[in-house]
Amino acid sequence: MSTIEIQNLIDGVWTGKPATVRRNPADLDEIVTRTAAATADEVRAAAASAAKAAQEWARTPAPARGRILERAGDLIEQRADEIGDDITREEGKTRAEARGEALRAAQLLRFYGNEGWRLGGETYPSAAGTDLIYSRREPLGVVSVITPWNFPIAIPTWKTAPALIAGNAVLLKPAQVAPVGAWHLARALHDAGLPAGVLSLLNGSGSAVGNTLIDADEVAAVTFTGSNSVGDGIYRRAAPRRIRVQLEMGGKNAVIVLDDADPQTAAEVVAAGAFGLTGQACTATSRVIVTPGIRDRFVEALAAQAERYRPGNGLGDGVLMGPVVSHDQLSSNLDHLQAAVQAGARPVTDGRRVDGLMMAPSILTGVGPADIIAREEVFGPVVAVLDAGGLDAAIDLVNDSRFGLSAGIVTNDLAAVHRFADRVHAGVVKVNRPTSGVELNTPFGGVGDSGTNTYREQGQGALDFFTWTKSVYSATPAW
Ligand code: NAD
Repeated sequence: MSTIEIQNLIDGVWTGKPATVRRNPADLDEIVTRTAAATADEVRAAAASAAKAAQEWARTPAPARGRILERAGDLIEQRADEIGDDITREEGKTRAEARGEALRAAQLLRFYGNEGWRLGGETYPSAAGTDLIYSRREPLGVVSVITPWNFPIAIPTWKTAPALIAGNAVLLKPAQVAPVGAWHLARALHDAGLPAGVLSLLNGSGSAVGNTLIDADEVAAVTFTGSNSVGDGIYRRAAPRRIRVQLEMGGKNAVIVLDDADPQTAAEVVAAGAFGLTGQACTATSRVIVTPGIRDRFVEALAAQAERYRPGNGLGDGVLMGPVVSHDQLSSNLDHLQAAVQAGARPVTDGRRVDGLMMAPSILTGVGPADIIAREEVFGPVVAVLDAGGLDAAIDLVNDSRFGLSAGIVTNDLAAVHRFADRVHAGVVKVNRPTSGVELNTPFGGVGDSGTNTYREQGQGALDFFTWTKSVYSATPAW
């Protein structure tokens, strides 16, 4: 397969010499992409052209902005097979996962394109009856979008599309290890007629490109998805400028399995959340908390499920789990496993069987709540099983975490479901469903160290993040 040459998009012009090499994690001999790294000066030039372009874009009627987004969505849908395969070759997820992600990007563009018809303000009654009072949503201007490698087209789209429909110009920086999804997004928007400068694609390192994306005077907001260490650094760096910052970061997502559940159903729900996407999702299941009456039957059924997730090249038929994204991620996963075993965990299935970047799923029992494997994000196909005497003890264990992104329960007991939903400290709650996977119109985000927990992503929260409110008072003649 041929190598994709990725340039940056600055002021409507594709530019830069593709040099940074990315290999296929399922076939390390294959060079999938060569990408041009933007310099700090190029980022500053992009910010200046974005500030200019943002003015005209903000004055373009929102439904007309929306038509461009919808056209881009149609193009992505037409190209979904190609985009999906490019993502699989670059990032490793399976063909079904990658194609599904491309189609999600298409839906997001159409969804936010339609929001152009609804970007209204409100009217307010005047106490004296002498004023027409109304609010307007104003765009922020230029916004920086910084994204991780694990959803290389969906996350860039779910941030860029609401920013654009609200009338902002976007500076988009994808992760260095997986630039192809954001490139496809930028190409589709460019081909759909987005004016020059309204979207810049700026590839490169966190230090050179990322820092300038926060420091540039024109930038009014930063939305970031990625690790806690990088997110915390962005928050500190942006603070003196008091620009708006949205961070979506890690998770340590738990599923409770209660005695009354069907062990097979519980195992399927947990395996999909823990091993689907190779466990490389912020919402991946990494803890299961089981009550005594189902424990052994559940662990046995989960081990059988793990067999189905034998890793392979994501382009292959019937492969349910692709490779780990990189050598760094693999050694971090293996270090976590090693430390867990040293702390007394017992591997039921053992992911230390590795071939290239293919890592088998791991299920660990004998894990205590204080163990590192029960507390820190792994970001691989590893799940720790913890024991709890009953529902309340299980909920306490779910909440015994610095993170609060997604949490699930498997049970047919309606009262237990509502008690769980009431008490659990997590932004997303799943009942008899995997912790991963979200609908595009539903608020998304976490509490605790999972994020800033101010504006939610998706739906109304996204539009709120990318706009500010202006209140207008206009004297009206007496009736
Ligand atoms: P990462 O933090 O290493 O990188 C994310 C992005 O930040 C990349 O584009 C990177 O180049 C950039 N970056 C790095 N240093 C920077 C700096 N100093 N200034 C500005 N930008 C900088 O994360 P990753 O390894 O790409 O992704 C995995 C992490 O993302 C996991 O922790 C996962 O939980 C998290 N994640 C969270 C969500 C969510 O919605 N909560 C979704 C997906 C992934």
